[in-house]
Amino acid sequence: MTTRREFLQTTAVSVLAATSVQCTHVSKVNANPGAGKAARTGVVQTVLGPIDASKLGFTLTHEHVGSGSEKIFSSRANSVADAVDRLKEARDAGIRTIVDLSTFDTGRDIRYREEISRKSGMQIVAATGQHVYAAESYNARTLEEITESFIKEIEQGIDGTDIKAGVIKVAARSDVMTPTEDKVFKAAARASKATGIAIETHTLARRRAGEKQAEVLEAEGVSPDRVSFGHSDDTDDMNYLIGLARRGYTLGMDHTFWGMAPGAMLPWQKRADCITKLIEAGYIGRMFLSNDWVHGDVERETVNPDGMLFTIRKTIPYLKQNHVSDQSIRAMTVENPRRFFGRLA
Ligand SMILES: [Zn+2]
Repeated sequence: MTTRREFLQTTAVSVLAATSVQCTHVSKVNANPGAGKAARTGVVQTVLGPIDASKLGFTLTHEHVGSGSEKIFSSRANSVADAVDRLKEARDAGIRTIVDLSTFDTGRDIRYREEISRKSGMQIVAATGQHVYAAESYNARTLEEITESFIKEIEQGIDGTDIKAGVIKVAARSDVMTPTEDKVFKAAARASKATGIAIETHTLARRRAGEKQAEVLEAEGVSPDRVSFGHSDDTDDMNYLIGLARRGYTLGMDHTFWGMAPGAMLPWQKRADCITKLIEAGYIGRMFLSNDWVHGDVERETVNPDGMLFTIRKTIPYLKQNHVSDQSIRAMTVENPRRFFGRLA
């Protein structure tokens, strides 16, 4: 029987081997949009300051590192200690950067993120924007005011600190947007255009909600290659997925673990098969892998005890069984994030 530590070490070695493979040629089906052009890099804001995008390394693009965790931790210090342990474990497994899509309306504590990043060595990118339920205060605020609030978190800092957001996260609950959601998406588009920062969204994929979001963002003039539709693996509708990828959008395949839930309509292997089909169709350059892990969320931990490591322990080995190459794994976990999160000066 393999011990947990041995397992982690083996996994770390294989992931590091995969991520050190240099992309020396482009296969026929490789539609990596970065190929053939000078690699798009730029600078990425982390909670400990700006870094060159080439330093992102293996990146999980949609996670929540804390700290709605008061329910299970007796103190902030305990919560920090647990989060640091989990981040160190992820770092030992080869993960270098976590994009934390926790916005102000989740009760986010930005200093907490700074502290756990410093103590664990994990690079963390913070988000401006809005969580699943648009904040009530947005109903009364104008589009211009919301845009300004996003730009302020990107350019000046979050909650009076000088810790800046490196991505914009917005959400619409269904395929029909409420007037407030519509306003928030337009604000995200304008803030993205003003700052060069990319957008990640929450979508209800089984209602093809990315298509409506694309319509709103495109009307504001945002380039599809600056947008990722989260939770895209909640559907196996290949027509929908390929349609968005073909238009240049990036698909966040970040709910694979929900396929572990008892009675899940889409088992995780089926979700991973969709990733394989997208690669075979030529869209390797249009996907992210992540786990929408929420530190301290007991329900998620029960469904997915691997947490942030689900990608490394389950998804990637399964994709390899499907004959997905190390190069393709590297594209989804290293090269696509580097291109997407790099803010061009
Ligand atoms: Zn999330």
